[in-house]
Amino acid sequence: MQNAEIKISEIFYSIQGEGLLAGRPSVFIRLAGCPLRCKFCDTAYAVDSKAGTMMAVEKIVKQIKRYKTDYIVITGGEPMISPNLSGLCKALRNYHITIETAGVKFVPGLKCDLMSISPKLSNAYKNKADRNRYLKIGSLQKLIRNYDYQLKFVIEKEKDIREAEQILKKLKNVGHSKIMLMPQAKTFSEYLKKSFLVARLCRKYGFAFSPRLQIMLWNNKRGK
Ligand code: SF4
Repeated sequence: MQNAEIKISEIFYSIQGEGLLAGRPSVFIRLAGCPLRCKFCDTAYAVDSKAGTMMAVEKIVKQIKRYKTDYIVITGGEPMISPNLSGLCKALRNYHITIETAGVKFVPGLKCDLMSISPKLSNAYKNKADRNRYLKIGSLQKLIRNYDYQLKFVIEKEKDIREAEQILKKLKNVGHSKIMLMPQAKTFSEYLKKSFLVARLCRKYGFAFSPRLQIMLWNNKRGK
């Protein structure tokens, strides 16, 4: 798609901090706009759809070529609501693409190598009704069925696991090895404190621990 544009919040080169590809040098393309308003959101500057600037897909690809990696992470905001996500993924077809999403929408036919899905639990919301509003079991099921994936749950307390398990029960054919738990934290001290709880829960329930290297290394500094 020649001259197509997409709304960008920021592009930066860093290390993937979470999930199965943690530790991999990756270019992050952060798209602007997200319908959710999570209490623990660490990218509040990207949730407002007016926050970003339009950028030509061609220019994005050119910029990415500078970096020494084949790994791209399309993140947000919520990438799945961004018009022309398909065009961006198509233009980046020679790279390994991870899309980070809350799983609120299914977009068919995306070139995506890893769908990194993080369905939000009640601990994300001030208003509990928002949990049900944004929990789209149909979309989650289609994402799992159509893409290679990982499911990451943000955990604050042990009761969050029971809520995650209720969601998992509604989904068919979820691989146990695809499920990861991450400590809910915005700062290094919170991360350290909650990591021990999450590690204990991982042993108890047999789920994998996902680190959050961006907090460990850079205390969540923007662009790192
Ligand atoms: S889904 Fe992600 S980007 Fe959107 S508000 Fe929640 S944490 Fe922030």
